[in-house]
Amino acid sequence: MLINCPVCNGIKTARSRIKTEIIPYFGEVMETSVVCDICGYKHADVMAVDHKDPVRYEIEISEDRLSNRVVRSQSATVSIPELGIKVEPGPKSEGYISNIEGVLNRFQNGVKQSLILFQEDEAQKNAKNILKKLDKLLTGELKASLIIEDPFGQSNIVGLEVKKRPLTKEELANLKSSFNIIDSNNE
Ligand SMILES: [Zn+2]
Repeated sequence: MLINCPVCNGIKTARSRIKTEIIPYFGEVMETSVVCDICGYKHADVMAVDHKDPVRYEIEISEDRLSNRVVRSQSATVSIPELGIKVEPGPKSEGYISNIEGVLNRFQNGVKQSLILFQEDEAQKNAKNILKKLDKLLTGELKASLIIEDPFGQSNIVGLEVKKRPLTKEELANLKSSFNIIDSNNE
């Protein structure tokens, strides 16, 4: 479907796609994407079709769990506290369906970008240190936990070993959230 671009305001220059997929033990999710041919604006998100409650998932990352499915909605905060890394909802955050390995790869790409952006010695040292630890998580030499917190319950980590519980009021208050794709692009 062609829609008007929310960024360059091009008339029907953006292609919008919607796809639904059934995730076992979770339900039906809707993947949406918008790509503008003129300005290159791109946005993707995933959302659950059914109403969900605020939720927190935690799993210990290990080599045999790298292929566990992960659904990350735009509203979710993804973190590995032992490494001090976190991705919060924001203008550039995207929803995706992947697995634990894919989430670690996304963290790697993010840290590699920060190596280019932040040239200070301290930042470089810190980023290289995190990259080493991410490598060790992928090879099973290191253990750490992957946590997904989603105020709209739209995300999921699939697996028998996953600890799932509702978010507390305090956790909810501390989470960032973004409600509107178009507004968040004005930042
Ligand atoms: Zn555009």
